[in-house]
Amino acid sequence: MANTQKRNYRNNKYRVNKIDSRNIAKNSADSSRKKSASKSGAKPKAKVRVNEKTRTDSATKARISTSAGVRSKKRKSEKNQIPYRVIPLGGMKEIGKNCTLIECNNEILIIDCGFAFPEYEMFGIDIVIPDFTYLKQNMEKVKGLIITHGHEDHIGGVPYLLKEINVPVYAAPLAMGMIDHKLEESGLSCERHVIHAGDVFRAGSFKIEAVQTNHSIADSLAYSIKFPGGHVFHTGDFKIDYSPIDGKVIDLNRFSQLGNEGIDLMLCDSTNVMRKGYTPSEAVVRKSIDDIFSNTEQRIIIATFSSNVHRIRYFMEASVRHNRRIAVSGRSMENVLSLARELGYLDNIPESVFVKISDIKNIPDRNLTIITTGSQGEPMSALTRMAYDNHKSVKLKKNDVVVFSSSPIPGNEKGVSQVVNQLYEKGVDVVLASAMDVHVSGHASSEELKLIHTLLRPKFFIPAHGEYRHLIEHSRLAQSLGQPSNHIFVLSNGDSLEVKGRTAHVVREFTSGEDVMVDGSGIGDVGSAVLKDRKSLSMSGLITIAVALDSGTGSLMAVPELRTRGFVYAAEHQDLLNEAINIVYNTIGKCTEENALDESSLSRAIKSDMKSYIYKKTKRNPVIIPIILYV
Ligand SMILES: [Zn+2]
Ligand SMILES: [Zn+2]
Repeated sequence: MANTQKRNYRNNKYRVNKIDSRNIAKNSADSSRKKSASKSGAKPKAKVRVNEKTRTDSATKARISTSAGVRSKKRKSEKNQIPYRVIPLGGMKEIGKNCTLIECNNEILIIDCGFAFPEYEMFGIDIVIPDFTYLKQNMEKVKGLIITHGHEDHIGGVPYLLKEINVPVYAAPLAMGMIDHKLEESGLSCERHVIHAGDVFRAGSFKIEAVQTNHSIADSLAYSIKFPGGHVFHTGDFKIDYSPIDGKVIDLNRFSQLGNEGIDLMLCDSTNVMRKGYTPSEAVVRKSIDDIFSNTEQRIIIATFSSNVHRIRYFMEASVRHNRRIAVSGRSMENVLSLARELGYLDNIPESVFVKISDIKNIPDRNLTIITTGSQGEPMSALTRMAYDNHKSVKLKKNDVVVFSSSPIPGNEKGVSQVVNQLYEKGVDVVLASAMDVHVSGHASSEELKLIHTLLRPKFFIPAHGEYRHLIEHSRLAQSLGQPSNHIFVLSNGDSLEVKGRTAHVVREFTSGEDVMVDGSGIGDVGSAVLKDRKSLSMSGLITIAVALDSGTGSLMAVPELRTRGFVYAAEHQDLLNEAINIVYNTIGKCTEENALDESSLSRAIKSDMKSYIYKKTKRNPVIIPIILYV
C-alpha cells in the first residue's frame, strides 16, 4: 500500500512546485504544488514519466533496448549539445565549506554553501568560507541555492553568501530551520522554499529532484539536476542505512531509476572511501545506548552533535523508558532541539520530562539525563565547562557517566583528549565511541559507494567532499568498477569542468577557489600577510622601538625606548635589551652618515639590524615595530 502511494506520488514528480515557503507540513504544501504544476504545463512531462515507468518496470531486455534507443537518440543530437560547467568553490581536497556551481546557458545553480573550521595555523580566525567572487560577478545568472542537509560544512556560509547576492534557497525543513536561525542572527532574509524528498521543482531552467538519503542528520537529500546541458547527480553526504531511526531508508529504487534514465555526471561523497565494507546502521547505537541506560544508576551526561536529532531522540526515548528527566545544556543544542520540537521530530517525547538545566538540583541522580554540547572538546562548550568546574548548573560528581556519542573530527583530537583527561581526574566514568558502539559515521564506506556507482553509472565522475587522498582513492574505486580514468576528474576549488555531451575537460584555476577567512566581523580582510604576523607574534612575541629625532637637525632627542610583549621577561633580560638599544644607536649613526633619516629608510634599517641581532642572541624572530617621531 505504502509503495503504491509512493509511486502515485512520484508519477506527478515532474510538476513544478513553488512551495509555500512557510508551509512546513508536507500535506498542505501538496495542494499548492499541484496548482503550480497545472499552470506550468506539467502534462506532457507526466507523459514522459509514464514512459519511463513502463521502462523501469519492464523486463531487463526491454530496458536494455530502450536505453540503447535513448543512447542512439543522444548520439544524433550530440552536435547540438549545450555545454555546461561545474565549478567547485569549496569542498575539494578538504572536508569543509562545500559549495558547487553548475552553469549552463547563462544560468547558475549553487549546491550547498558551507564553512570550514580554521586550520591549526590560522591564528584567531573564526571560520573559513568559499570565495564568492565568481558569484558576485555573475549575480544575475544565479537562479537558486539548493541545500543537501543542515551540517555547517553545507549551510554555514549561507549568511555570508546572502550578504553578497540575493538568491532563492531550497532546503528540507530541518536545514531550512537552521538557515532561518542564522539569517535571523545576521538580520538577513531570503526567498525560501521548504522541500521534501520526492519533490521536483524548478530553479530557472534547472529541474531538480530531491532524493531521500541517510546521514547523521535528519532530512538529508541527494539531488538529480536536469537542465538543457545534461543530467547531473549530486549525492550530498550520505550512507546507506537500512534501519535508520526515522525509518526513512535511502531511496535506492529512485537512484536505480535515475541511473537507467542516464546520468552524465555524478558528484559523490568521498569521506569514508578509505573504510572497507559498510558503515554500520544507526540501529547499532541503539543497542549500546540501551545497555548504558540499563546498567547505570548515576547521572548520564551525553555529548553529541546537536544536529544529530535522530540520535538525540533515541537518547531521549531511552531516558523516558528508564524514568529519567532530561536537561539540555549548550546554546546550539538548545537551539536545534527547540527547532526539532517545533518541526515535530521529537513528538513522542512528552514535554513533562524536560527540566531546565538550572533546576536539576532536586532530581535524583538515577532519574537524570543531561544532553550537552562539547563532544569535540570545544573550549567554551558546556561539557568543557563542566569538566573544568566552570558550569553554572552542573557540578560533576564521581561516577557520573559521560558518553561521547561522536568521534573527534580530524583536528579536534587534542581538544577532546584534554577534556577526557580532565573528566578522568574528576572520577567520572567516560564512555568513548572507540570503546563502545555509541557512535557510527554518517558517511558511506567503500562497498556502499560501489553500490551507488553501480546504480547510477554516470558517464563522468567528480569525487567530492574529501581531502586529496580521499578523492584519489574514490577515483580508484570508480576505475575498479570499470569507469575509464579519463572520465574521472579530481578537481581543486576554483577549477571548472567544462562538459559538452560526451566530452569533458578541466580548466584549472577558472576562478578563485581561495579560502576567505572570517575574523569577528571582518570577512576576507585577514590574508596571508596578517596570518604570517600572527604566527610570528604567537611564536616569538613583539618588540617596539620608539625613536624621537629633531625634525630640523635629525639628531636623537632621547634614549630610544624599547618595549617587548611575549618575547622575553624584560626584568630578567636587561642586558640583552640594553645591548639592543645600543644597536639602535649604531643604526641611527649609520643612517645619519648616509643621510637616510627619512622615516621609511630609518625604520627599515632599524628593523633589519635589530632582527639579525635578536636572532643571533636568541634564535627567535619576534615582530619588530620601529616608531619614528620627528619632534
Ligand atoms: Zn554532513
Ligand atoms: Zn559534509
